Amino acid sequence: MTDRNALGCAKLYRPGTYYDAVSLMKYNRDLSAHSGLYLAGESFSVDAGWTEPCLRTALDAVINLCDKTSASFNGGFSLAHYPHYRVGK
Ligand SMILES: Cc1cc2nc3c(=O)[nH]c(=O)nc-3n(C[C@H](O)[C@H](O)[C@H](O)COP(=O)(O)OP(=O)(O)OC[C@H]3O[C@@H](n4cnc5c(N)ncnc54)[C@H](O)[C@@H]3O)c2cc1C
Repeated sequence: MTDRNALGCAKLYRPGTYYDAVSLMKYNRDLSAHSGLYLAGESFSVDAGWTEPCLRTALDAVINLCDKTSASFNGGFSLAHYPHYRVGK
């Protein structure tokens, strides 16, 4: 945290904030259709500090955007097949 060149190479959570972070991961599914805003990037993942969770948030944004704009998915996929993030213990 004291290395100015490290920037976002790691992310720390304050105690008790994990489920607040997970609730941001639900934003695209629950609120984006209303707000028109889709969140992607490591800031909206609880596995931050790696490119792989960034990619997952990008896929999440696109899947939800496609669903909300009535796009047709290949292979019979629908959001019924897509996992829900659980908020709460
Ligand atoms: C030192 C270091 C080492 C790392 N090593 C690894 C590793 O080995 N393996 C790994 O998987 N991950 C690693 N990471 C993490 C990985 O690089 C990040 O998780 C990933 O790049 C984040 O991607 P992102 O798209 O969410 O954000 P970013 O890549 O940060 O992209 C955000 C973009 O938004 C732009 N931006 C910001 N504000 C604005 C604005 N107002 N208007 C327009 N554009 C804006 C920025 O310029 C930037 O281009 C490392 C990170 C660091 C810092």
